Amino acid sequence: MKFKSTRDSSVSINAKEALLKGISDEGGLFVPEEIPRAGNVENMMEMKYRDLAYYICGKFMTDFEPEELSNCINSAYNDDNFSNPYIAPIRKVSDRYFLELFHGRTSAFKDMALSILPFFIDTSLKTSENYKEILIITATSGDTGKAALEGFHDVENIKIAVFYPEDGVSAIQKLQMQTQVGENVFVLGVKGNFDDCQKAVKDIFANKGFNEAINDKKIQLSSANSINIGRLIPQIVYYFSAYVNMLRYGELKNGEKINIVVPTGNFGNILAAYYAKEMGLPVNKLICASNENNVLTDFINTGIYDKNRELVLTSSPSMDILVSSNLERFIYHMSGNDSSVVASLMDDLNTKGIYNATETIKDNMNFIDAYYATEKEVKNKILNTLLSEKYLIDTHTAVASVVYDKYLKKTNDRTKTVIASTASPYKFASDILDALELNHDDLDDFEVMEKLSSLTNTEIPVNLSSLKGKEIRFDKYSKKEDILNNLEKFLGVNSNA
Ligand SMILES: *Cc1c(COP(=O)(O)O)cnc(C)c1O
Repeated sequence: MKFKSTRDSSVSINAKEALLKGISDEGGLFVPEEIPRAGNVENMMEMKYRDLAYYICGKFMTDFEPEELSNCINSAYNDDNFSNPYIAPIRKVSDRYFLELFHGRTSAFKDMALSILPFFIDTSLKTSENYKEILIITATSGDTGKAALEGFHDVENIKIAVFYPEDGVSAIQKLQMQTQVGENVFVLGVKGNFDDCQKAVKDIFANKGFNEAINDKKIQLSSANSINIGRLIPQIVYYFSAYVNMLRYGELKNGEKINIVVPTGNFGNILAAYYAKEMGLPVNKLICASNENNVLTDFINTGIYDKNRELVLTSSPSMDILVSSNLERFIYHMSGNDSSVVASLMDDLNTKGIYNATETIKDNMNFIDAYYATEKEVKNKILNTLLSEKYLIDTHTAVASVVYDKYLKKTNDRTKTVIASTASPYKFASDILDALELNHDDLDDFEVMEKLSSLTNTEIPVNLSSLKGKEIRFDKYSKKEDILNNLEKFLGVNSNA
């Protein structure tokens, strides 16, 4: 299997190289030259999560030796890293199925991919002739940063730097990152929003002087953001796992189609669902759920992508994004793999902040629907789900559940529907208490979690309760213009760039 660039059809590299590079030289993202077929899902009935991961990832990562791949999978999906034996269990709650993706080490769905990405990169590095050391740089809207730090800290020959928006993450998310241990890690708060952080990362990738300076030290830049193909491929696995589990419990008949609702930010998670569908998973509709930053809702409904609007800070900060990186891969596939179309649309986005998709792209998008949820609807949903179903959901999952209501109302489609549940409610405990109309002005972050726990009779994930009393190692905030400077100080290089 080769990987091509979304912006240059002449690029063709194997999985290991794509993993190490993260992004193509001309700025495009790596995509599989064709999406492999997975065969009938009934044949996967005996497979546990790890077997499924081996089967699905193996279809894309054909340059990994069988033993290399199984080592990566066994090191990632085990009892040390996941608190639930199913890894991604499914919970039926009234008329919908929640796919719980938050049982990993940092209590967000990012763990599903970031617990394995470090092993993929480490394996690729060991057999690489071109690269000796990797510097991972990552912009985060809250969850990626911690999950990446947790995965990469103290891994040999890898350094990792994480940039997060000072006011754009929850208190617990901030604490998770500021207390990160490891000699090879660097965490920086940025006076700006997530898009500023993401832009800084892209600019660093494109900065020749900086890249030469680190290449002199035999360091290669890479990314733990979902622009890295090593994030996307493992995310396909849990959609198959969800389907197989539903078949096992008798919730589906062989071949019966499902809908999938995904709370979406950078379009990575829902893109993985699209790949699963293309591989042969029986899927009827993909439903893209946004919060009040509804750029994607507009795009899917009109074909016009327009980032020229104010970013709103919501209670679902991991979705507060105006430039959705992975949408580039989606429009590449919708255009019939036409890199020249993508290059020109991305150029429009960079120069004008807006593009209008081609008719081909619009016609091909008919299996995806999109709606968004307001802050008020999210709050009501959390409250009502707890009161009537005794089920506690986080703010991001609530966005998806509101959107599913809107879809049902509009279409009356009774296809069984899976909702990607992307974070533990405890990461957003104050917002949850707000939704439940409970005052918490006098409570610190830990008391807020304890209140939620006693109220709902659910447990605080240990990785969150154990943050209490941990030493703050990174409390620095940087202007966005100074990000590169700060990074260079951490690395001990000076590119004068
Ligand atoms: C990252 C994240 C999302 C958005 O996922 P994308 O792959 O960026 O679309 C949604 N919810 C939570 C909790 C997240 O951490």
